[in-house]
Amino acid sequence: MTAGLLTHGCKTGPAGGRSDPIIDIHQHLNYSGRPDEVLVAHQRAMGVTRTILLPAGRSLNSAATHQGEANGLQAQCYGNAACYGFVRAHRRSYAFGANEVPDLEEAVPEIEKYLKLGGVVIAEQKFGVECDSAGMQKIYALAAEYQVPVLMHWQYQMYNYGFERFYRMLEKYPRTVFLGHAQTWWANIDQGHQNQADLYPKGKVTPGGLTDRYLADYPNVYGDLSAGSGLNALARDEDFTRDFLQRHQDKLLYGSDCNDWVGSGALCQGAQTIAILRKLAPSHAIERKLLFSNAKRVFRL
Ligand SMILES: [Zn+2]
Ligand SMILES: [Zn+2]
Repeated sequence: MTAGLLTHGCKTGPAGGRSDPIIDIHQHLNYSGRPDEVLVAHQRAMGVTRTILLPAGRSLNSAATHQGEANGLQAQCYGNAACYGFVRAHRRSYAFGANEVPDLEEAVPEIEKYLKLGGVVIAEQKFGVECDSAGMQKIYALAAEYQVPVLMHWQYQMYNYGFERFYRMLEKYPRTVFLGHAQTWWANIDQGHQNQADLYPKGKVTPGGLTDRYLADYPNVYGDLSAGSGLNALARDEDFTRDFLQRHQDKLLYGSDCNDWVGSGALCQGAQTIAILRKLAPSHAIERKLLFSNAKRVFRL
């Protein structure tokens, strides 16, 4: 990596400098076929100092994978063994999660195997299952037992069903740390969000949406700021966002979840998310929590 790339878009001073460490809690190996060396360069270009790789579950045809559509997290992403192998060769800058299709009998032993090897999260849980199904409840219990968070991709009628009754799980598993991610999670910051089929709502946000309340009311709920859905939520109403970042400053964690090969500029949504957090965080101290120290604490890094 050249110094030129590392300092691209450099913005120093009280708003945050490029020398500050950043933890990216949401990346994938072989994301849309991206080679490993390109991933490494991409993370460096974004200024990320530690990356958590979230594996896919095994590939199979079942209802939970929408007959294979969701295999590889619907993006060719690699699974547990590949992520573990990569991290063994890049220990200083990378950590890995553990994952499996949740309604398989082998799910708990497979996830447990990789947690014992050092997995720091159960993720990415992106399957067509009810959020209070027997399989998911076993995963919540396992997350509490190993003191690792479970990260869930919420997408209406596609992945993790039943967002409106999820509070029952938050209450039933108070020792489990839940990380919310994706379209349905972020659309529901807005109390005015009516049409759940609208996955990327725009415009002004009224505080008090379901996600806003889950974050406010449950100490075991956190938000993963990654992906186009996270960036859209941060960008759609800047006045709301400043207040949202202030109120949930200890509950929100930066992730990129981008599959580009560049790591900067308009093509890289992860770089744009860093930029908007630096712009809208009410203080440098809060920016540091969002980009680094919340993740360090929640993932016990
Ligand atoms: Zn996702
Ligand atoms: Zn990117």
